[in-house]
Amino acid sequence: MPPTATLEDIKAHQQRVEKNKITPDNLPPCPRCRVESAFFKIHAYRERRFLIIIEMLIKAAYCSLVRFGCPGCGKTFTHYPDFAIPHKHYTRQTIEGFSRTYVENDQKSYQDAVIIDDAVPERPVSGQGLAPSSVHRWISTLTALTIAHRQALKKSLQQNPAAQLGSHLELIQMPKKKYKTHNRKHCLLWCRWFFKIQEDFLKIDFHRVCDNTSV
Ligand SMILES: [Zn+2]
Repeated sequence: MPPTATLEDIKAHQQRVEKNKITPDNLPPCPRCRVESAFFKIHAYRERRFLIIIEMLIKAAYCSLVRFGCPGCGKTFTHYPDFAIPHKHYTRQTIEGFSRTYVENDQKSYQDAVIIDDAVPERPVSGQGLAPSSVHRWISTLTALTIAHRQALKKSLQQNPAAQLGSHLELIQMPKKKYKTHNRKHCLLWCRWFFKIQEDFLKIDFHRVCDNTSV
């Protein structure tokens, strides 16, 4: 089974939006004026298209995302459900799952990483398969998100002494054939480290990503 959010996940979020169950509490305080997110007011609803994988076919599913506004300065923030990663159409499960396959397996190429049970998920009409370059980009995205959260990650690790054992970035290795530049090496090492600590100790909360752009 390919990693993906399900149609049910997306429908459940839509129902929560319609029943006014989405609250701004898990957003960070306003970076401009420091007003706590609990005081944010609903600003707008935006329909978003997500791509999920159903029986190896990549299909679109739609739901609304809620945008909150800061009463202090008017800045707006998007609330992201658990399956969404800011500015990405594929769901968190897909992005993390395929990235993890590449990052955690020394032998796998990007071409290998998109294969599930001898097949590549594809678009229903065009037959266009999931591109290996997507996985390359997703790893960059995940690295940027985890680096943006590094203070929170470090704090969680410090609070959990067991997590500190073997979780040092310096101990993580990456085979040379997986990168050509120092930047990419760093990106892959960071991502591998993130998956390693995430597996046992914590789940990064992408909801807390401060979104500075209009979606
Ligand atoms: Zn503000």
